Amino acid sequence: MNHRSFSVILLPTSQCNVACDYCFEKKDPHRLSLEVVPVLTKRLLDHMEREDIAECEIFWQGGEAFLMGPEWYVAVRTIMEQAATARGHRFVHSMQSNLIGYSPAWNDLIFDMFGGSLGTSMDYPNLHRKMFNGSAESYTDTWRKRLDEARGAGIHIGVIAVLHQGSLEAGAEAFYHFFTRELGLDDFQVNTPFPGGPANDSASGFQLDPKELSRFMGELFDLWIADGIDRGVALGPFDALIDHFTGRPARLPCIWKENCSNQFISVDSKGTVAQCDCWVTSEPDYHFGNLFLEPDLTRMLGESPARRKFVERPGKLVLEADCLECRFLSICHGGCPVRTHAALGTIDAKDPYCEVYKTVFTRAERHGQMLRNLPSSMSTLTSEKESISSN
Ligand code: SF4
Ligand code: SF4
Ligand code: SF4
Repeated sequence: MNHRSFSVILLPTSQCNVACDYCFEKKDPHRLSLEVVPVLTKRLLDHMEREDIAECEIFWQGGEAFLMGPEWYVAVRTIMEQAATARGHRFVHSMQSNLIGYSPAWNDLIFDMFGGSLGTSMDYPNLHRKMFNGSAESYTDTWRKRLDEARGAGIHIGVIAVLHQGSLEAGAEAFYHFFTRELGLDDFQVNTPFPGGPANDSASGFQLDPKELSRFMGELFDLWIADGIDRGVALGPFDALIDHFTGRPARLPCIWKENCSNQFISVDSKGTVAQCDCWVTSEPDYHFGNLFLEPDLTRMLGESPARRKFVERPGKLVLEADCLECRFLSICHGGCPVRTHAALGTIDAKDPYCEVYKTVFTRAERHGQMLRNLPSSMSTLTSEKESISSN
């Protein structure tokens, strides 16, 4: 067996209990039935066997993954584990939740199935993550209570923050202070926004000015180097870049993978297969197929015209865009297809945040040089988990 990574972003439902402005999910009350989990598991295991993949990372996301209830996950885990063990394979599970529905009833499952860790999301300032009544304030209050309760139970929480215009206006220092000092987090990640999913009035506001965003990201990087790195604060994607530029093994986020199509697929509750959660519920033109209708996942991935577009994208960019002359091509590969698609309506162009990435890579290179010259006691900085750059 080889150690090739294979990760599945699994959406047991696209339904959600909150209403974020920038949500790209096409909400649907449909839920993954326990009755079809053995079929789904078999399709994944067949693919792993054909491709000689020993282990598959399952990222449970939504919608809101907590809507399925802890008992449902206990049953799913048993089905998947028994089938995988019988065939000499392994599933490793992670979960991303908005935490709003967290209660101690989840604790046993979180420790047994997810290694005592949960991923969640919060922005600063929170203007766009909202309860159904439209209030960002009540969302923030509830989320902070749940965060405290979960951490009180000993659960490790990693947070994704989606940057927006309000973050840029608040400034990097206030942003960094909120996450590291006010919330006391030691593991968070910043994602660039994109106006994905079904059209909504606020979507166009989520394409940030690359110059402003570059300045913000550069300042945030410097703050983390000055204040966070020595205290063991993990701040993605900077930590992975520092690993890369100091010659350590680095798990770069999916936007900078050689080709995200080599490693990820997403499957929704109806069996739809697509590149990642950004595409699976809301972009039917980019669906690869259906796991419950097509018995051979390997063949589906090999023959899908939609997937071929993802596979061929980095090669096309090298031929057609200025990526070929970019000295960061070997870590960037043209960036993220969904961010490109959201801005330009095609995936065959370089990522619209190119300028931001160049700023961040240049900073990482400089900080990496400086850190290489220091007596090293640091271990690998990057989280052991894959980092997916959706919302
Ligand atoms: S972004 Fe996530 S938490 Fe927010 S409405 Fe969409 S699915 Fe729910
Ligand atoms: S977020 Fe972008 S880079 Fe990551 S898997 Fe989706 S399309 Fe690929
Ligand atoms: S930084 Fe820009 S030019 Fe360089 S590889 Fe990435 S998208 Fe292409």
